[in-house]
Amino acid sequence: MSERKEILGKVGRVVVKIGTSSLIKDGIVSTGFMDSVAEQIARLRDEGREVLIVTSGAIGIGLKAMGVRPKPHEMPIRQAAASVGQSILMQRWAESFQKHGILVAQILMTLDVYSDRDSAINLNNTVESLLENKVIPIFNENDAVCINEIKFGDNDTLSAIIASRTDSDLLVILSDIDGLYDSNPRENKHARFIPVVYRIDEKVRAMAGDVGSSLGTGGMRTKLDAAEICADAGCNMIIASSGEYGAVYRTVAGDDVGTLFVSGDEVTKKRRWIKHAHAVGRIVVDAGAEKAVLGHKSLLPVGILSVEGTFGKGDVVEVVCNGSVIAKAVPSYGSKDLAAIAGKHSDEIEAILGYRVHDDAAISENIALLKI
Ligand code: GLU
Repeated sequence: MSERKEILGKVGRVVVKIGTSSLIKDGIVSTGFMDSVAEQIARLRDEGREVLIVTSGAIGIGLKAMGVRPKPHEMPIRQAAASVGQSILMQRWAESFQKHGILVAQILMTLDVYSDRDSAINLNNTVESLLENKVIPIFNENDAVCINEIKFGDNDTLSAIIASRTDSDLLVILSDIDGLYDSNPRENKHARFIPVVYRIDEKVRAMAGDVGSSLGTGGMRTKLDAAEICADAGCNMIIASSGEYGAVYRTVAGDDVGTLFVSGDEVTKKRRWIKHAHAVGRIVVDAGAEKAVLGHKSLLPVGILSVEGTFGKGDVVEVVCNGSVIAKAVPSYGSKDLAAIAGKHSDEIEAILGYRVHDDAAISENIALLKI
């Protein structure tokens, strides 16, 4: 058995992310490509695998349909284009899958909806129910209503979050590049292809540089971020070229196509959610508390220097020390009460607040460490 097949094992659930540059060729939506993806996914499904799709292309298709060319950061027209393009995009996917008797469902995501824990759990229920009923969920960001502060920003990140949230075994990112090289292959013809990455360290990040495309938003950097999100979820990830014959089917089957990023140790689902949810406030802590948090201990009120923003006890906040964000957490108390017990010993909590939920300001299970 090849090393690739051994690492991947049997892929039960897979997320396939398709970038704008794969869908739009010379300004035209490539229905041939979409048909081919649908055919490969139908085959995977026949073999008993579950498939979810994250599709880009709404903005690109919408701009083309409207015949406009906005300036790089002109938001309103891009958002309008997204709403035009998204319905065309879904119509095309529905047509491609209909040829195989497969129904598709549209799920449009925003970071604020994902950041609400109940909505995130509800998302899982919806996805499970769709998959049980043999429907293919097709995700995109809800670009028409997103504002910059609460954007996933790119579909590489979104697809990794979907893969993580849905406990998928593999994320396949189809792109206009066939994988990771040790330098930019568009500039250096001696660039060396990297078939497997076991750990994303500074060396790997340096290889990625800033390779991007003109229509989509993701470059190699966002793909590495995606691989890190997947690694935390115990999910492998492959970047492959959409131009490679049968790339979707072959990557899942374990053929040596694209670059494989091997998953890391699985972090609990709650911590993964905390890490990627939108933070609504900040808790500033001292060096002692930083040490405790980084050592996977809980955060005690005594180590809190100040509290910023207004938040409730179920919300996600950043934990900050010396100006850097070291973790995100769901605190045991809301901002007003936390501010009242900041710097105090835990045995004073009841006397100050008149009640006590925990000795800790945030229990360790509710703290997700960030890379620092
Ligand atoms: N959500 C965007 C779209 O559908 C694409 C974002 C991306 O390219 O990563 O047009």
